[in-house]
Amino acid sequence: MRLYDTRSNDTVAFEIVIDRPLTLYVCGVTPYDTTHIGHARTFLIFDTLLRYLRYRGAEVQYCQNVTDVDDPLFERAARDNIAWDVLAERELEQFVADCRAMNMVPPLYFPRASETIPQMIQTIERLIELGHGYVRNGNVYFRVSTDPDYGAMARMGYDELLTTANQNGNNPDDPDKDDPLDFVLWHTGNPGEPMWPSPWGPGRPGWHIECTAMATKYLGEQIDIHGGGRDLIFPHHPSEIAQTEAITGKHPFVHVWMHCGLVWLDGEKMSKSLGNMVFARDVVRDHGADPLRWYLLSAPYREDFYYEHAGLLASKEKVERVKTALQAQSPTNAHEILDPTVFQTAILAALDDDLQIHQALTQVAELATAVLVGVAEQRDVRKAQQVLCDMTSMLGFWLAEGA
Ligand SMILES: [Zn+2]
Repeated sequence: MRLYDTRSNDTVAFEIVIDRPLTLYVCGVTPYDTTHIGHARTFLIFDTLLRYLRYRGAEVQYCQNVTDVDDPLFERAARDNIAWDVLAERELEQFVADCRAMNMVPPLYFPRASETIPQMIQTIERLIELGHGYVRNGNVYFRVSTDPDYGAMARMGYDELLTTANQNGNNPDDPDKDDPLDFVLWHTGNPGEPMWPSPWGPGRPGWHIECTAMATKYLGEQIDIHGGGRDLIFPHHPSEIAQTEAITGKHPFVHVWMHCGLVWLDGEKMSKSLGNMVFARDVVRDHGADPLRWYLLSAPYREDFYYEHAGLLASKEKVERVKTALQAQSPTNAHEILDPTVFQTAILAALDDDLQIHQALTQVAELATAVLVGVAEQRDVRKAQQVLCDMTSMLGFWLAEGA
C-alpha cells in the first residue's frame, strides 16, 4: 500500500504487516456540537482505512481520543450554564450513537483527556527534566527552540507559524513566555474552570500534551499511522511530534501522518465556532447512513469537501442502484457467467493507492451496473453479486447486510 505522509510531503510505502498489530491514532472530538458532517467525514475516512487494513489481514489497534479538557468545551458549558462534565457526557453519548448509526467500527481505545491527567503530568515533568519545558507562575511551557525541526511538517516560515498558532488559541503576548511560539504544557486555568492538582499548582494540561500522553500510553512510543483533519497540521501535530520525540528519543514518532480535507458549507468552512453545521444524525434520519457515507467519501480524502444537498441525493441514487443490483434475481437459464475479477482488482488497487476511496466507489457503481446489465442479458451474476456484497461490506456500508 502507498500512503501520502504529510511530514515527508511524499507518498510512501506502507506495508500491511500481519505478524504484529498495526497502530492507528486519530485525534478525536471535543464533545460539544457533535457530530457535524465535518467530523463524520474524517472518522468515516479512517473507518474505511481501518476496515481495509483488516480486510487485508492486519490486526489494527485503533485509538481515538476524546478532548474533554479544552477551552471551547468549558466556554460552551459556561454559556449554557451546565457542568462541563455533564455536557461532555451528554455529547459523547450522542457522538457514539452517531458513529454506531454510521456503521463505524468502534475504536479499541477511546480515552478521555480527563482520565489521563496523571500520564500528562508525568510527561510534562520529563520534558522539564530534559530541558524542553520551563515553569513560570504555575504555567509550564514547551521551549520550541529546543527542537530545530519544530513545525517543519507545516512548511511555513516563523511568522506564518505564529499567525496560525494564534488563530488556534496561542497567546503570543503572554509575558511568561520566552518565545511567542512556545506553547502551553500546563496552565493555571481561569477561575470557575475545572482544575487538577499538579507539582506546579492546580490547573490543567495544554491541548497538545493530551494527545502525546494518550497516544504513547495506549499505542506505544512509535505508531504506524496518525491522522486527523487538515486543521491539525499546525500547531497540534508538530507540537505532538516535538513533545513525543523529545521524551522518547525515538524518531519518527509516527510513520505516516494522514490529514483529511475539511468540509465546507455555503462558502465557509463548517465549524463549531462558525455554527454553520449539518448534523450527521439529521442526514441519517432523513436519508439513511449509506447515502451519507457514500457522499462524504466520493471525493479525494485529502481535498476539501464542499457539501451540497444535491450531491447527497445523487449519492442516495447510487446506493439504491447498488441495492437493486444486490437484490436482482440471477437468470436461471443463464449461459454465461459475469466475471467480477476486474472490478474487485480495481477496487483494491484504488485503496492501495493512497486510499482512493472515491475511485473504489466508482468501481462499485460500475460493478452494480454490470450486474444489472448482466441480468438483462441473461447472464449468471451470482459471483458478481457476491463480490459486490463483499466490497460494500468491506467499505462499511450497511446495504450488504440486508441483501
Ligand atoms: Zn490530537
